[in-house]
Amino acid sequence: MSDKRDYYEVLGVSKDADEKDLKKAFRSLARKYHPDKNDAPDADEKFKEIQEAYAVLSDSEKRRSYDRFGHNSPGGSPFGPGGFQGFNINLDDILGGDFFSNFFGGGGRRRSPQSQGNDILVRHEVSLKAVLDGNKDEMELDLPAKCDDCEGTGAKDGVTSQCVECDGAGQVRIRQQIGPFVQDSVRACPHCEGSGRKYASRCKSCSGDGTQTESQVLRFSIPKGAQDGTRLRMRGKGQPAPHGKGTSGDLFIEIIVEEHPWFERNGMDLIMSLPLGYSDLALGTSIELPHIDDKPLVIKVPARTNSGDTITILGRGVPSARGLGRGDVVVLCKLHMPKKFDKKSKKSLEDLRDDLAGSKDLIDRVIDDAEERRR
Ligand SMILES: [Zn+2]
Ligand SMILES: [Zn+2]
Repeated sequence: MSDKRDYYEVLGVSKDADEKDLKKAFRSLARKYHPDKNDAPDADEKFKEIQEAYAVLSDSEKRRSYDRFGHNSPGGSPFGPGGFQGFNINLDDILGGDFFSNFFGGGGRRRSPQSQGNDILVRHEVSLKAVLDGNKDEMELDLPAKCDDCEGTGAKDGVTSQCVECDGAGQVRIRQQIGPFVQDSVRACPHCEGSGRKYASRCKSCSGDGTQTESQVLRFSIPKGAQDGTRLRMRGKGQPAPHGKGTSGDLFIEIIVEEHPWFERNGMDLIMSLPLGYSDLALGTSIELPHIDDKPLVIKVPARTNSGDTITILGRGVPSARGLGRGDVVVLCKLHMPKKFDKKSKKSLEDLRDDLAGSKDLIDRVIDDAEERRR
């Protein structure tokens, strides 16, 4: 955690940068380091770092907490126990400029409301194993689609006529007097809701809404190494544009990675704790667990392992999103303390009490331990 770069430094802005400065810095860096544009091997990491810094500093609450506590805020990572997972950002979004409303404003996109349908977000749960294998997957969904009977216009048989209020432009110019100023603004025509068309009677199939629900099967691949919250974009699978004019929105599939019975995930690494009896820690043991790659995970616990020691098993973690190898499994050994001992065990432990404590007297042990800790 502590070798993380300062968020202000990442974005190259001063501590008192305002919203505009942040946005400007983020945009120019995001353009530079977006993995689609930058082939450098660390572009992906850089891009994520930039996103994370911006996500924190652009949120006033997160920023306040960061200013006070740095990376060690008392509630842990502001992004939950898994830390920051990044967004799947399409380059068009950054260059096109509607990126902010999509990902940071939380609301729909702010394009002209007449020409673009809304985006849809669905969540899809996958197993950790699916993330390892990069499986093909599919889901069946009821999605809004253009009404067949009216071609999305909402008019009976699709028969519409030009709106006379706006001459079919769909927009009206409004002149407003604000104090000494006269302001002209363009708004969607209120008579035709910006479509430029009007109809006498509405389509019965969709009650004039222009959409119908269609069951669709979406097929997609789970990206190898996907994190909780990774988003896949399916262009044009979102809400159809209003009145049948313009392009449909996009559909985002947000990957939710199922909780594993014992692993926590830390980037590419899998972390688990292993409670062992005193004898296993003292004498060493070998343990076999079923693993997500279908090969048993063999954990060799050496003799005289301390509670709190870790064992790293290389290359058995989660694959990297860039396809370069796999992370590790990190096993935290713990002393398992039974709820109670039976008489016989108690007696045996009693007999061993002095033995287990070692030959040194208590003060020496306390001093040894302090020295060890301070090394
Ligand atoms: Zn219809
Ligand atoms: Zn009109």
